[in-house]
Amino acid sequence: MAARILIVEDNRVVARDIGQQLVRIGYEVSGVFARGADAVKFSQEVGTDLVLMDIRLEGEIDGIDAAGQIRNTCRVPVVFLTAYADDETVKRARETEPYGYLIKPFEDQQLRTAIEMALYKHASEQKLRESERRYATTLASIGDGVIAIDAAANITFMNPVAETLTGWSFEKAMNRPVAEVFRIVNEATRDKVEDPAATALKLGKRVELAPQTVLIAQDGRETPIDDCGAPIAADYGMITGAVLVFRDMTQRYHAESELRKAQEELSRMSRVTTLGELTVTIAHEINQPLMAIVTNAAACLRWLSDQQMNLMEARAAAERVIRDGHRAGDVVATIRSHAKKSAPDIKPLNLNNQVEHVLTLIRGEFRRQSISEELVLPDEPAIVLGDAVQLQQVVLNLVSNAIEAIERAYNNPKRLKICLQQNTPGTVLCSISDSGIGLDVQSADRIYDAFYTTKAGGIGMGLSICRSILSAHGGSLWATPNDDYGATFYFTLPSIMDPVANV
Ligand code: ADP
Repeated sequence: MAARILIVEDNRVVARDIGQQLVRIGYEVSGVFARGADAVKFSQEVGTDLVLMDIRLEGEIDGIDAAGQIRNTCRVPVVFLTAYADDETVKRARETEPYGYLIKPFEDQQLRTAIEMALYKHASEQKLRESERRYATTLASIGDGVIAIDAAANITFMNPVAETLTGWSFEKAMNRPVAEVFRIVNEATRDKVEDPAATALKLGKRVELAPQTVLIAQDGRETPIDDCGAPIAADYGMITGAVLVFRDMTQRYHAESELRKAQEELSRMSRVTTLGELTVTIAHEINQPLMAIVTNAAACLRWLSDQQMNLMEARAAAERVIRDGHRAGDVVATIRSHAKKSAPDIKPLNLNNQVEHVLTLIRGEFRRQSISEELVLPDEPAIVLGDAVQLQQVVLNLVSNAIEAIERAYNNPKRLKICLQQNTPGTVLCSISDSGIGLDVQSADRIYDAFYTTKAGGIGMGLSICRSILSAHGGSLWATPNDDYGATFYFTLPSIMDPVANV
């Protein structure tokens, strides 16, 4: 479709000539006016693709004023027509941002070139404006804060989220150094953190912000943020500025802490449930000796009665009462000792020292039973975060079980090997390997259950306690049968790097 051109020219003959010229070279004439005011009205109300505007016009406003009004109200491109151009006129005309000048008289070719150039320039400006509008709308509606800076690190743009988080309006922040508006510090140390946009500007590459950064708003409000800066490079590669994109992490941290709370609650619930189950088992475990006590006490009374007087039997029954009383007492003591340590005293520990400490306590037993002991410790300290007493209890329980298993396997060689090593990075693995009776495949899973025991005087709480202590420390416990004799119990604990821990 041919472009529609409005002619504004107060010389009717010239206007007619231009009209004919336009039609000849393939344009359509949308109107001809002699007065600037009429041209403005027509452009606003009817519309046209381009205005050819004579500078000198009859009426109150001249061509330059009319072009200014058109530019301000309807963005139709204007090309000035002029017979002469003094400096002052050119200066005034320039302020209206015209799309071209044509010096009268002009050839068809010159006219066509001026019109095509003006239409092309206008179309690309339109496109640019649209894309700017699109970006501005996008930036205004995204949830991230965006700040753009120029090559001198002064602010050239800020979106509404950035305004809210920094407490600065874009109007006030415009052209100010970014460091003044975007003040960030490390949450823990309170040290000033250089903003990533400035760094991106210096380095010419994208920069991520270190975690734990808080943004301090103008009113002192603090917001944990996560952000990055990226340089803006012009087509020819020169860095002309940078953009800073940052995000309020409050919600995220809040969600994470809620999640942590929920997990803690869940594990508390599961502990309570286990405790519920445990109570039933404990009641059963204590009930048994209590029933036996009542029965034996009744028998004892019977043996003491006049008719059946038998002091030997009465004594035996009384001894059984004592034995069962002790047994019930042992059950209670075990539970109490476990419950007492429910608030662990967590600190960095060298597990090597804890293992050696336990072995010092129990070494007499090795000697008495002629058990040969092998201890393999890593060269480096195996540092874990934990409660010393609880972890010693784990090692002691496992070593005691190993000794008892060896004791019960009369014909086997008597060997015990304890090995501590850094396993996968961040984990310490401890293995306690014995040459005892070994594991019964059928009951291999049940050995960790509370009160499961295969020993005459056993209580069956050892492994259950070990497992709960280790899981509270982020570790785990399992066992495998050995190829030759006995079993190996393994436990793992998360290790940390701490050269000062030597407890
Ligand atoms: P208890 O030692 O009082 O029986 P535990 O919970 O420590 O309680 O152990 C439960 C059971 O696991 C033991 O009775 C035994 O059958 C089995 N067990 C534990 N350690 C070993 C071992 N080193 N070798 C073979 N069996 C073991």
